Amino acid sequence: MKLDVDYLLTTSDPVATEELFAEARRVRDEVYGRRVFMRGLIEITNHCKNNCLYCGIRRDARVQRYRLTQEQILACCQEGHRLGFRTFVLQGGEDGWYTDDMLCGIVEEIKRRFPDCAVTLSMGERGRDSFRRLREAGADRYLLRHETADSEHYGRLHPAEMSFDHRMQCLQDLRDLGFQVGAGFMVGSPHQTLETLKKDLQFIETFRPEMVGIGPFIPAAGTPFEHMPAGSVELTIRLLAIIRILHPHVLLPATSALGTMHPQGRERAVNAGANVVMPNLSPQDTRALYAIYNNKLSTGSEAAESAADIRARMKAIGYDVPTDRGDFVK
Ligand code: SAH
Repeated sequence: MKLDVDYLLTTSDPVATEELFAEARRVRDEVYGRRVFMRGLIEITNHCKNNCLYCGIRRDARVQRYRLTQEQILACCQEGHRLGFRTFVLQGGEDGWYTDDMLCGIVEEIKRRFPDCAVTLSMGERGRDSFRRLREAGADRYLLRHETADSEHYGRLHPAEMSFDHRMQCLQDLRDLGFQVGAGFMVGSPHQTLETLKKDLQFIETFRPEMVGIGPFIPAAGTPFEHMPAGSVELTIRLLAIIRILHPHVLLPATSALGTMHPQGRERAVNAGANVVMPNLSPQDTRALYAIYNNKLSTGSEAAESAADIRARMKAIGYDVPTDRGDFVK
């Protein structure tokens, strides 16, 4: 199917968009069935050495900082395992406090205690050698959104000390080392255009990441972009459908940012081809501190305690939530 992306992203014809969503569901169901996979997100640190212009926990943000210890992380996994999670995603700012030795130790211990689980890391850019050690320690997957496939646009979202080429190099290194790799971008980030979005789609079509995380940009207080408008839920959902059709095997989360902006955001995403949800498994008292954007959901159906609620919501729209690692299907 050759997609007219310009038309699909801009049309106001409800019939055309409904057809797009139906095709995305059909393509997903063929590969994964009507199943939505759950990942437990553990936000292990909000310390960050980077100063991304959009991010609420950037270096210059005046927020209370925290780090989780290995024991705290393992306790989150224990609770998650009880709730039926079989993938743990460790995410954080770029925090040198977690040396390779420490992170490898944490990954090894999670894999030792929960051998039926996948470990996903999302700790930002690191060197190839560090990625190699983490892979050897047992990490299965790595999420590193490319943020934008247009290097000039990248330069307007990040300070000069950060580099588009290095981010892309990291994605390639992760791929070479055998990780299941997640890329992705924000929808409606400042200075994004139809042209930059088309580059994102081209990148996804050629690199074919195993996971693609996209969600609306949401302004974060205290950042240079705090007064910029949020991205559109509607556009995000159309992009999810297009990505599903371009890359039928991709694991595609209905992100928290989408759930934050619309009460039915996750259901709408699943109805447009998404097949992953990532409830928060972080300790209750640190959740509010991982404020990458304003009003981020971490309670209600975003809380892992509400795994049952997520299951019920997915069941209500005709989907199963298996207790399963939910690996990429080749
Ligand atoms: N330090 C890690 C994790 C970053 S947080 C890394 O660099 O990969 C995960 C994602 O949240 C980011 O990749 C970014 O796309 C998204 N994000 C950050 N700030 C955001 C905002 N204001 N609105 C929406 N999404 C945001």
